[in-house]
Amino acid sequence: MRLKSLTLKGFKSFSEKKDIIFNDKIVAVVGPNGSGKSNITESFRFVLGEQSMKILRSKKGENLIYHGHKNLSSHNNASVKIVFNNNDNFFSTVSFDELVLERTVYKNGENEYKLNNTPVRLKDVLEILASVNIGPTGHHIISQGGADRILNSNPEERKEMIEDGLGLKHLQYKKNDSEKKIKKTLENISKVSGLIREVKIHLSFLEKQVSKHRRAEKLKEELIKAYRYYFVVQKTYINHWTTQYDNKYKELQILDNEFSLKIKDSRLDKKFTEIINEHKEKNNEIENKLSELRIEKDKISRELGRLEGKKEHKNSFLDEHDFSNSYIKSEDISKAHKEVFDIIDSHKDTTDVDEFKKSFILIKNILANILEKEPTNEKDLQEKDTDIDREIEKKNLEIVNIEKKESILLEELKEIQKSQDSVIESTQIKEKQMLDLFAQKNKNDRDLSDCNRNNDQIKRDVFEYDQEKNECEALIGHTYDSLISDSIENDLLGREKILSFKKNLERLKIRLEEIGVGLDESTLEEYNKTKERYDFLQKEIFDLKESIAILKDTISRLQKEIDEKFKKGISSINKEFEKLFNILFGGGTASIKLVKNQKKIKDDEDTEQKFEEKMGIDIAISLPQKKVKELEQLSGGERSLVSIALLFSLSQITPPAFMVLDETDAALDEANSKKYGDMLEAMSKKTQLVVVTHNRETMSRANVIYGLSMDQNGSSTLLSVRFEDAVKIAK
Ligand code: ATP
Ligand code: MG
Repeated sequence: MRLKSLTLKGFKSFSEKKDIIFNDKIVAVVGPNGSGKSNITESFRFVLGEQSMKILRSKKGENLIYHGHKNLSSHNNASVKIVFNNNDNFFSTVSFDELVLERTVYKNGENEYKLNNTPVRLKDVLEILASVNIGPTGHHIISQGGADRILNSNPEERKEMIEDGLGLKHLQYKKNDSEKKIKKTLENISKVSGLIREVKIHLSFLEKQVSKHRRAEKLKEELIKAYRYYFVVQKTYINHWTTQYDNKYKELQILDNEFSLKIKDSRLDKKFTEIINEHKEKNNEIENKLSELRIEKDKISRELGRLEGKKEHKNSFLDEHDFSNSYIKSEDISKAHKEVFDIIDSHKDTTDVDEFKKSFILIKNILANILEKEPTNEKDLQEKDTDIDREIEKKNLEIVNIEKKESILLEELKEIQKSQDSVIESTQIKEKQMLDLFAQKNKNDRDLSDCNRNNDQIKRDVFEYDQEKNECEALIGHTYDSLISDSIENDLLGREKILSFKKNLERLKIRLEEIGVGLDESTLEEYNKTKERYDFLQKEIFDLKESIAILKDTISRLQKEIDEKFKKGISSINKEFEKLFNILFGGGTASIKLVKNQKKIKDDEDTEQKFEEKMGIDIAISLPQKKVKELEQLSGGERSLVSIALLFSLSQITPPAFMVLDETDAALDEANSKKYGDMLEAMSKKTQLVVVTHNRETMSRANVIYGLSMDQNGSSTLLSVRFEDAVKIAK
């Protein structure tokens, strides 16, 4: 037997713990009115998870607990336990041989569910039951007076009951579950999207900073390379040229001293000028002497001329006159001569023409006086002639002497000139050497100042170099020493080349400064965390979307399965329904069909009425020999029969583990009770039946009968009874 037992403790009228054992196919529960039979029916619903208090005939959970009697105190809780056999793994999700479900309700209305003594959620209970076709609509539990519930329900509720009866509920659960999950997932997507938007804003902000930082890091790397190279080449350059310029400077200094000394030495050599001066003096002296000699010579020449003139005059005088014995006394001539010469001497430098004229007149007079004098005689003249000749000869001799002296002096002059020329020549050589020296010294001076300038430049380079060292540390956080090893040397590069490296260095520095170097660790950490969170959220969105796709796929699969099974189920039910209907009514037709109903959607704001299509189940019957087709027109018994036919046919298609039928037979006459009894027996082959009845026919079909009675404490008591006793008890 699938259903093994039911234990009630403190539930409604069952104050004491009562076990009902179901070890037969049909178990009947009999007892007088108010003995607690329907409480047993409700205890089934209760333990299987029923949530409707109305169906449990109560207003609140607390009322389900035995409320006591004057002799018995009330209970704190009520519990019902149901035990199923699971040794054939009927409940595939439960790995025990028995499935024990227990529900306890407490005074505060709280409920507790246990599965094999382990607390579980209601949802878990419902799912396990649905998997074996024990659905929440409780189609397999027909409460007292609820036989025609399927007729009274609307098409949608009917559809639900049929779905439940067909065992589609667990699929429906799964579908609903998936739909809920989709809803939840969409909510999550919306939440995560909101978070992503927030994180994205923050991330973009951080990304910009980090990307700046990365660019700065890249630039730093470039800068480190540039610095390293610059330091090496500049160091090589500075070292090389410092030594070079130092040496050069020393060399030039030595040369400068040498030139200065040479120039000084050359300037001390005054010989040449002295010699030249001496020559000049000597020359002047000789020139003076020569001039004097020439004056002397001129004077003598003039005297000579005068003497020769005198001689010539005398001769011509003698020729013209016979002045053989006359002559002019020589002392007269000498006197005249002296007077004339005195006049000439005193006037020789005069520039005054009148003075000059006067002197001529004087001279003329002197000459006239002398000429007017008659010579005394020829002899005298002859004497005088000899004197003149002697005089001429003397003068000529004087001239010769003077010319000799002149010639000597000229020779001396020549010598001096020669010596002078040689001195001048050697002076010019010296001067040229001096000029060369000056030129060389000037050049050396220029070289020195060039060298100084270069040295200054090198000093500036060293200064800049030191500045770069400091800047390098400040900018890229690397000390000079960590970048450069002392031993590093490089090929010597030209200044222009180094300047171009320096330019590149400056360019990189400017770019780095523009970007900004600073990004603290916490920002980087924050970026990493934010990025991680962003990626995580993106992944989550992806996963959520993927799970939605999977859920949608599941839903469509489930829907397809539900639709197919439902369609198949309807046609199977109809076959059975028609058959049972024919048995119960002795003919006629009965069927159920799927219909579409338009249902108004409540929408206060919208004036335009909206409808949604809802699927439902309609029941169509046709009683034999009667024109009745409307369910409303049926009698109470007929309604019960139609309901029983439909419920039983539903149970035939997918037999539930058990069925509870609480006075379903109440409205049946004897003939129909018989047919009902037959149907029970037929059904019991597939389903365990618990029947609450007052009907004798029904009792007769039961294998076990439990008799219920109410004791003096208002508590239901239970005992197994024989059929005869049961009939009595039932009455
Ligand atoms: P009938 O044959 O008329 O259908 P029944 O045997 O089905 O009767 P029930 O409806 O099961 O009777 O039992 C009703 C009885 O249970 C009532 O007498 C009611 O007082 C009692 N009862 C219901 N709830 C409680 C409760 N919480 N504590 C004690 N007794 C209760
Ligand atoms: Mg009852």
